[in-house]
Amino acid sequence: MSGVTSAVLGFPRIGPNREIKKAVESYWAFKTSAEDLQTVAKEVKQKRWESIKGKGVDSIPAGDFTFYDHVLDHSIMFNAIPERYTKNGLSQLDVAFAMGRGRQQLDQGIDLQACEMKKWFDSNYHFVVPEISPNTQFKLNRNQPLEEYQEAKSYGITTRPVFLGPVSYLVLSKAARDAPSGYKPLSALDSLLPVYVEALKQLKDAGVENVQIDEPILVQDIGETLSAEYTKAYKQLAEVAPKITFTTYFGRIGKSVDFVKELPVHALHIDLDRAPDQLDDVVAAVKSTKLVLELGVVSGRNIWKTDLAAAKKVAEKAINELGADRVVVATSSSLLHTPVTLTSETRLTPEQTAWLSFALEKCEEVASLAQAIGGSESDYFKQNTKDIAARRDFERTSDSAVRDRLAAVTPEMLSRKSPFPQRREAQKTHLDLPKFPTTTIGSFPQTKEIRAARAKFNKNELSKEDYEKAMENEVEQVVRFQEKVGLDLLVHGEPERNDMVQYFGEQLNGFIFTQLGWVQSYGSRYVRPPIIVSDVSRSQPMTVRWSQYAQSVTKKPMKGMLTGPVTILNWSFPRADVSREVQSKQLSLALRDEVVDLQNAGIYAIQVDEPAIREGLPLRKVDWDNYLTWAVDSFRLATSGVEDSTQVHSHFCYSDFADIFPSIQRLDADVISIEASKSDLKLLETFRNHGYSNEIGPGVYDIHSPRVPGEQEIKDRIAAMVEVLPKDLLWVNPDCGLKTRGWKETEESLQNLVQAARWARETYA
Ligand code: GLN
Ligand code: ZN
Repeated sequence: MSGVTSAVLGFPRIGPNREIKKAVESYWAFKTSAEDLQTVAKEVKQKRWESIKGKGVDSIPAGDFTFYDHVLDHSIMFNAIPERYTKNGLSQLDVAFAMGRGRQQLDQGIDLQACEMKKWFDSNYHFVVPEISPNTQFKLNRNQPLEEYQEAKSYGITTRPVFLGPVSYLVLSKAARDAPSGYKPLSALDSLLPVYVEALKQLKDAGVENVQIDEPILVQDIGETLSAEYTKAYKQLAEVAPKITFTTYFGRIGKSVDFVKELPVHALHIDLDRAPDQLDDVVAAVKSTKLVLELGVVSGRNIWKTDLAAAKKVAEKAINELGADRVVVATSSSLLHTPVTLTSETRLTPEQTAWLSFALEKCEEVASLAQAIGGSESDYFKQNTKDIAARRDFERTSDSAVRDRLAAVTPEMLSRKSPFPQRREAQKTHLDLPKFPTTTIGSFPQTKEIRAARAKFNKNELSKEDYEKAMENEVEQVVRFQEKVGLDLLVHGEPERNDMVQYFGEQLNGFIFTQLGWVQSYGSRYVRPPIIVSDVSRSQPMTVRWSQYAQSVTKKPMKGMLTGPVTILNWSFPRADVSREVQSKQLSLALRDEVVDLQNAGIYAIQVDEPAIREGLPLRKVDWDNYLTWAVDSFRLATSGVEDSTQVHSHFCYSDFADIFPSIQRLDADVISIEASKSDLKLLETFRNHGYSNEIGPGVYDIHSPRVPGEQEIKDRIAAMVEVLPKDLLWVNPDCGLKTRGWKETEESLQNLVQAARWARETYA
């Protein structure tokens, strides 16, 4: 069989050693210049092109590099820049950073808030939401894909530049402040298209042969309503552009394929990692056309080695129908969601290393796959077959006790002993809290000292005993602080936690960790997701000693603090051999034991955080119910083992919960806290529409800024909540944990919060 070519849709831009983070943060701190920053970027870009090329990939991306966010870069390119950012004479680079993260230089009269950020589809990557209005004056400020194409060319590397497509760009945008109410950014398509036309024409004039245009919005239901927009847009673009590879990813293209196959583009990319079942339908749909089909068989979202023999079969199936000249093998999406390279990891066992594949290894996979289809199986390909078989063996021999326990879960285990009103009575006597009780979400400022102690402990420069003493000391201070401020339900402050997911992963069986497996979350913030490799279980209590210690130094009630099963799952790289549901429920069983142990240790309020429950929501609405059912069941399984008198809390933040609010109710937590101070109106509307029958603390203090909310402001927020929710059910708390805040502003803010709660008790007595 004759060969096919290989393509990579995008690559991490952070650098193998987080070079970009370091360079960007040093620039922000005014320690280095813009030229210094560009110098670092230039090297990182050169290395990534050379290493992708070195792996033998045919289509190498360009234009996907960014200092902050690629969607933001498109807004800069197209001049979709809200006026408030252009008034201070900032450079183009600084305008981008100001939009991404805000900029405050009060001495120069600059006080710019950041633009809104949103999660990129169902990933933990955040993009900066473009703001569009009828006044947006689109023009081509720069042509970044062309610039990078030429940059790569100077190293002798031919690339396939990448754009985010015009329809997806506008659907992901929001109406700017100056837009009339009800304005839809997509209505700006006609004025945006000429800019794309110009940019693509420039590419063609420069000799670019292939361009990749991403239209991920097509994997969502809304895509199906956009046939007219797509048809219009791509007719214009195709006239001037190089050959267009039109890409979809993160899900299935569904019915949209019927109009997409008629677009005047060269190739269509589909995601066969997330949606392998769509192959037959898409092949059937495009068969009678001339379209090349690009098969996204190497996952851009997970870190498991691709089963290349299986991927080869998939490709051969397509080739049988379409011919080899109409098939390309590729990554399923950009690789930006995976760490740069496995070769940096020195602590994984050889067995573990053989299971995994990070971005650079994925490039090699795509290239070897293409070669193997052409008839020459490289050593890499042969080794892959062995590694996959070894991994399968390992999976089969994973923990049968955990699987048996999960199989034995009964429906009763998903429900508390009594309904909420009865539990509430039992809890009243147990906890003795006032009306409008005050509490915090868990963490208190993680100071330099705390981090330094942990770093020393990890390097064996501090004994376990001394480290734990230091943390106990910190816990005690946090307790005293809360007593002084006058909070009602206290927390221990989480000083011992590096991260709310990693901390639990490290203590559970079934997880492994990387040293340098960083993945960009937003801007210069990178995370290192744990990897779930086998059945999950708990060997011993994980948090009890800390909560118990905290309770021992105060007479006030203490709230235990756990991360929920769905959040642990969504912020880890999950296994690929069992469903997310199974992994989530295994986590639930481990947490269920922890919850019961906390109660038995005298902790009668226990919070199980689920801030990531919304982002795991499937991209297609028909799949929502299934997800929400097991996600809610997971929470209930984790929390239902306790007595009525134990108060179960949960916490949600930084997502729009309106559309899943009925599921939040179904969690049946006794108390939830939910971020609200940033999105006041929306949330009030949700409460008004859905009501809420258990206790609830809508956040009254935005913890994302050092700003101290005034007492009156907090009172106003409480008053607004009293309008829509029963006053007996209301709690007063911040939006989220205080980990990133300083002590001074925390103290002032919480004092105001406590005063406002006292006022509420009198006012609404
Ligand atoms: N308990 C966690 C904290 O306070 C919750 C963090 C979160 O919601 N992201 O830090
Ligand atoms: Zn939160």
